[in-house]
Amino acid sequence: MSAEQVDTVVIGAGVVGLAVARALALAGREVLVLEQAETFGTQTSSRNSEVIHAGIYYPAGSLKARLCVPGRDLLYAYCAERGVNHRRCGKLIVAGNAAQVDELRAIEARALANGVRDLQWLSRDAALALEPQLDCQAALRSPSTGIIDSHALMLSLLGDVENAGGVLATHSKANRLAALGGQAQAAIEIVVSDGTRLHARQVVNAAGLGAIALAHRTQGLSPACLPQTRTRWAKGNYFTLSGRAPFKHLIYPVVERDSPSLGVHLTLDLGGQAKFGPDVQWVDAPDDLQVDPARADVFYAEVRRYWPGLPAGALQAGYAGMRPKITGPGEPAADFVIQGPRAHGVAGLVNLLGIESPGLTSCLAIGQAVVAQLAR
Ligand SMILES: Cc1cc2nc3c(=O)[nH]c(=O)nc-3n(C[C@H](O)[C@H](O)[C@H](O)COP(=O)(O)OP(=O)(O)OC[C@H]3O[C@@H](n4cnc5c(N)ncnc54)[C@H](O)[C@@H]3O)c2cc1C
Repeated sequence: MSAEQVDTVVIGAGVVGLAVARALALAGREVLVLEQAETFGTQTSSRNSEVIHAGIYYPAGSLKARLCVPGRDLLYAYCAERGVNHRRCGKLIVAGNAAQVDELRAIEARALANGVRDLQWLSRDAALALEPQLDCQAALRSPSTGIIDSHALMLSLLGDVENAGGVLATHSKANRLAALGGQAQAAIEIVVSDGTRLHARQVVNAAGLGAIALAHRTQGLSPACLPQTRTRWAKGNYFTLSGRAPFKHLIYPVVERDSPSLGVHLTLDLGGQAKFGPDVQWVDAPDDLQVDPARADVFYAEVRRYWPGLPAGALQAGYAGMRPKITGPGEPAADFVIQGPRAHGVAGLVNLLGIESPGLTSCLAIGQAVVAQLAR
């Protein structure tokens, strides 16, 4: 069976794949998005905190910092233009003791280095004036943190792809790739789960939890360029609050530097419902997404550090998401990996690996970065 010729293929229709597909389609490429599931956005992009991050925590100069800050601004502008439901509700990062106050100062310095200049230092009294139910020694207020309806965002991004002539093919798993070098016009072969063979000029691997495994199934790509043979599964569990939360801001505790998460924080959804999480639970399989109700004890303890009035019996097991980690337990968090031809030598291929938080916030900026890599 002869192969079908296509211009550009994006593998994975999560928020990042869709944002990349949109950027490529708007740049004039003919884009085909391959998605293994029955529809878009069923994995990590619909199992997260739905927070638009300000760009506070990430090491200066890291891709996370360099993509989150402009990504946040692009996202707010996009939401306003397209009517994607969101709210710039702000967040408080709260220090519960003297050591955490020192760490809060370090967080403030890191934010400044990342170009986040709107943080406000709050004394205990100032913080409690904003949020009377809170307990803390000091807090940092981030006015540019917000919340977003991630499904509405993905729907809008897909609409843009389709309006620009792009196509989403569902039930279409990319089983393996092969670099077909040698000729002047290099191509990449994609073998799809239904047996179709595609020859594309450009391919973006935005397969989220499956991205590292797919990169390892790419003939012609040296495994030495890739982080490891399997993704580490760092599950994040959420508990929801029954009843309304007495908070207007998102509340984040100070966590140790290099923590694999931002701590068991309180986020609000656009309907005003509060949830707590995500914690970090290292698991053996990416589909281990059940929340164990027994974890509630730890959640009560963590949350009562900053909300002593959390009533007994108020937490219900919610949902869980899986972080596509590059590093494992005890290791520092890795940066995003956006790996283009210069890094791995395969013309026309970009791998997006380890796109954990703040991937949702950064999606439009990641789209721009991929277009730039492929234009080189
Ligand atoms: C617990 C948690 C909380 C988070 N909170 C936030 C937050 O508040 N703010 C923020 O900015 N970020 C947050 N993130 C990060 C954010 O959710 C992710 O960075 C983002 O959703 C990743 O999108 P994606 O498109 O790369 O991956 P996904 O959404 O996982 O999409 C990948 C898609 O690829 C498909 N796929 C996989 N393999 C193949 C294949 N071989 N062929 C075809 N299709 C394939 C999958 O079915 C899936 O649809 C959080 C993440 C987690 C886990």
